[in-house]
Amino acid sequence: MEVTTGGVIYGVRLRPGFDYRYVGLTTKSADLRLRQHFKVAAGGRKTPFYDWLRKQDRNDVIADELDWLDGLDELGQAEISWIDYLRRDGQPLLNLSRGGLGPTGVVWTDEMREAARLRSTGRLGTSRFAEENPFFGRRHSDAQREKWARDRKGTNSGAANPNYGKFGEDHPSFGRVMSDEARSRLSEQRRGEGNPNFGRRASAVTRAKMSAARKGRPMPSSKRNAHTRHHTNKGVFNRTCQYCIEDAAKPNDE
Ligand SMILES: [Zn+2]
Repeated sequence: MEVTTGGVIYGVRLRPGFDYRYVGLTTKSADLRLRQHFKVAAGGRKTPFYDWLRKQDRNDVIADELDWLDGLDELGQAEISWIDYLRRDGQPLLNLSRGGLGPTGVVWTDEMREAARLRSTGRLGTSRFAEENPFFGRRHSDAQREKWARDRKGTNSGAANPNYGKFGEDHPSFGRVMSDEARSRLSEQRRGEGNPNFGRRASAVTRAKMSAARKGRPMPSSKRNAHTRHHTNKGVFNRTCQYCIEDAAKPNDE
């Protein structure tokens, strides 16, 4: 198989005119790319270029090859240059981005985001939940799950985490408080079998480490003992302590 190392910059225009309406790059031919664009337009994609393309007579639209480049990076750079050049020349390009490879370079405004949200609401093929999801009730194979787990491992840890090194006000969840309802739902979910540690027991090595770390620190002999020392004697009410809750439920006649 031949490895593609280059491609063309093409400009889309109407046959009778010389105003380019769109500049793109392709590693195939400009004609083939134009046919693909018509297919996408027929599929209903909404961008200024596709909106325009849908309104044209197919036979009137032509894609000129403007430039031929060896190497993908050069190709991306050339696209940026062509878009820039034609824009400065006053040509009515409908490109949303300034071109180039990688992320499209489009900077979304709030208006664009809202318009995209409205367009995608209820669109088939986007997120469908519960029974409406074609995968509902099914389960990926163990091999697939293991592969994903491997691929994901470490991708969100340490410096790779987007919130790495962010503390206090710099952290996105700074000052966020969960509602009591959300807290109790979470607490409910993580009880018993819902707890990731349910039925598990730390390894002998881990237990030895935990034990060594506690050595010499005075520990209460029981939860009730801790409650008496840290809550009753200090007049503290802790809502995660079962004895505080029990005491509060007792009539005050002791
Ligand atoms: Zn207590």
